[in-house]
Amino acid sequence: MTSSGRNTFASAALLARARQVTPGGVNSPVRAFNAVGGTPRFITSAEGAWLTDADGHDYVDLICSWGPMLLGHAHPEVEAAVLDAVRRGSSYGAPTVPEVELAEAVVERTSVDAVRFVSSGTEATMSAIRLARGFTGRDVVVKFAGCYHGHVDSLLASAGSGLATFAVPGTPGVPASSTELTLVLPYNDRAAVEAVFAEHGDRIACLVTEAAAGNMGVVPPEPGFNAFLAETCRAHGALFVSDEVMTGFRASRQGYWGLDGAVEGWRPDLTTFGKVMGGGFPAAAFGGRADVMAHLAPEGPVYQAGTLSGNPVATTAGLTTLRLATPDVYDRIGATAEVLKAAASQALTAAGVPHTVQSAGTMFSVFFTEGPVRDFAAASAQDLGAYAAFFHAMLDAGVYLPPSAYEAWFLSDAHDERAVQTVLDALPGAARAAARAADGGTTEETA
Ligand SMILES: *Cc1c(COP(=O)(O)O)cnc(C)c1O
Repeated sequence: MTSSGRNTFASAALLARARQVTPGGVNSPVRAFNAVGGTPRFITSAEGAWLTDADGHDYVDLICSWGPMLLGHAHPEVEAAVLDAVRRGSSYGAPTVPEVELAEAVVERTSVDAVRFVSSGTEATMSAIRLARGFTGRDVVVKFAGCYHGHVDSLLASAGSGLATFAVPGTPGVPASSTELTLVLPYNDRAAVEAVFAEHGDRIACLVTEAAAGNMGVVPPEPGFNAFLAETCRAHGALFVSDEVMTGFRASRQGYWGLDGAVEGWRPDLTTFGKVMGGGFPAAAFGGRADVMAHLAPEGPVYQAGTLSGNPVATTAGLTTLRLATPDVYDRIGATAEVLKAAASQALTAAGVPHTVQSAGTMFSVFFTEGPVRDFAAASAQDLGAYAAFFHAMLDAGVYLPPSAYEAWFLSDAHDERAVQTVLDALPGAARAAARAADGGTTEETA
């Protein structure tokens, strides 16, 4: 039981049952609340900006399924389109109309000439890297510490000792042979990029980066950084792969590229998408330059496939979501983000909690450390105990934040005045709870 008396009996019972049949009781680790402690809430339904758990409590959702639910949960038009698609059969293993329409919608909004659909962001980055290797005939991949690209073996890598040395596996189960072709550099560090390209440039197939880092909290690229990466890759015959799985159709209608390359006049060679473009269903994609994409089977020699790729229900959900995601949707979400950013900062300042708020388009996050945070080392300086206390106080007040300090806070177009007011009301108390924990006290949950 938490301090405010919100019981978690049903969630706790479900977790115990789930643990009998699933490792940790969850199907993706962060859902287990290990970073913040306490009982993960089992969610039984969601509508608009709100989640309802198994004990009947409602929460304002500031995760939005880790990004996808841009329009809010159970959006009536998305729901209707999906039900209509399901009635016509859920999978055929043959080409369909919604795939073509979604591909056209992605091409229209972004820098890519062509896309191939897959079922998860992990598959998108994995396939983009295979294509980059197949296209260039080279093997080495460069990535940045703190950027997450899904659980692709070669990208679950930590920096080796020193710059310009090859990486070590970030988890057991990944062979060193998978990561010894991966170079991991500090984010926003041009000198490190120049150094590895000077030493290994003719072996590098691609550099992959989040278009704006969102998986260590939101760390935007410094002005001109992505353009510099694109140019460095070009100069060395490597491909620039921009991972927009999180930022795509969320940071702006055109993704982060819409605020960056589209303004500055450059484009990535390959881009990956997921999350929003699946409208809450398993759909993701990779796309890019026509000549590079032409290397994919069946047009070219690089093999890639999927039983459920381009699934008609998932692509219908994505297509309907993108069609409804008009410029005013992004304006409204951006305006709501400004309100919450200011209020979070004000509450934490009043409570004396060191913090910094950073954004990338409509995405933002609150770091529990003095800013600016420009790389993973700085993000890692956060006071995780203070965040855990803050998280639980918010949860008790009916606000569901990411159960980790290293995540963005996600909004939807359904975050109306009532949802926003619930967050505003919760912030001052949560900030005081964070201050008590920062002073070395215990969290609300364990008190
Ligand atoms: C979520 C995410 C992925 C992985 O996508 P999944 O659908 O979870 O496999 C890859 N890259 C980025 C930037 C992401 O945020």
